[in-house]
Amino acid sequence: MKIHCLFLLLLLAGPLFGQQPSAKRIIKHINKLASDQMQGRGTGSRENAKAARYVEKHFKKYGLKPLGTDGYYQSFTAKIRRVVVPDSLRKAANVIGFLDNDAPYTIVIGAHYDHLGLGRQGSSLDSLPQGKIHNGADDNASGVAGLLEIAQYFAKNAVKEPYNFLFMAFGAEELGLQGSRYFLNNPTPPLEKINFMVCMDMIGRYNPKRGVGIGGYGTSNTWPTVFKGVESTIKFFTDRAGNGGSDNAAFYAKQIPVLFFHTGGHPDYHKPTDDPNKIDAKAEEAILRLEIRLLENAMQQPKMTFTVVK
Ligand SMILES: [Zn+2]
Repeated sequence: MKIHCLFLLLLLAGPLFGQQPSAKRIIKHINKLASDQMQGRGTGSRENAKAARYVEKHFKKYGLKPLGTDGYYQSFTAKIRRVVVPDSLRKAANVIGFLDNDAPYTIVIGAHYDHLGLGRQGSSLDSLPQGKIHNGADDNASGVAGLLEIAQYFAKNAVKEPYNFLFMAFGAEELGLQGSRYFLNNPTPPLEKINFMVCMDMIGRYNPKRGVGIGGYGTSNTWPTVFKGVESTIKFFTDRAGNGGSDNAAFYAKQIPVLFFHTGGHPDYHKPTDDPNKIDAKAEEAILRLEIRLLENAMQQPKMTFTVVK
């Protein structure tokens, strides 16, 4: 009887504990966000708003506090500049969830959820992109899946970490980091409270020869301490630069230390063929576990000091 009660208790308590990232959930998120029904999540589209709601739904489920300006949303107007379109001004939004640990400083984890839609907003590398669905499985449904898995892990574990977390899904990255820049010019928590920012953009196409690149290593003198002795089942390498690739560049410009996870370019980059069936979810799972390891090490350190990368 006692054993049964204990079992039942464990069963009930189970969902309260954070779970390590799993390939199964990762691919579920990617299949959803990069399905044809999502029409490539172009900025201003109904499907882009649907992707934002998908993130919001999960932030709610994990118990994150809304920290946008309208609930979880921070709305802004994005502008298409690379091509001439009659409706160049588009409704866009960041989705922002806060894990409040009553700590003085906050770690930002971010990934953009927009992509190129039907190839009419510029940046497609297809020769005739108009009307083709640019699913953006790697770019950046993979990063959003990572964001959700990391949020789930830290929000649902029984640990009160020594830092708060701000989880952000950025809009309009493909139009030139517009969501992250908007946030940094209109921050919902003050920027002085941010310890560092971790960005995930294209982490689904792991190439065992290359390994996963982790940029931003030179943006604080603390990173070498954080990486010291860290091992992983996958290959990884660091890169000092923090100012390129994705939304991390906007944080770097505001003198905030960053890390940027990226599995590298491929022939489907910014083409309609960036599809979910090409994702290596098992490798992404390992990348996210490595990221958690690094975050846990970073939280043993005092607030980081920014250094300019020369
Ligand atoms: Zn991207």
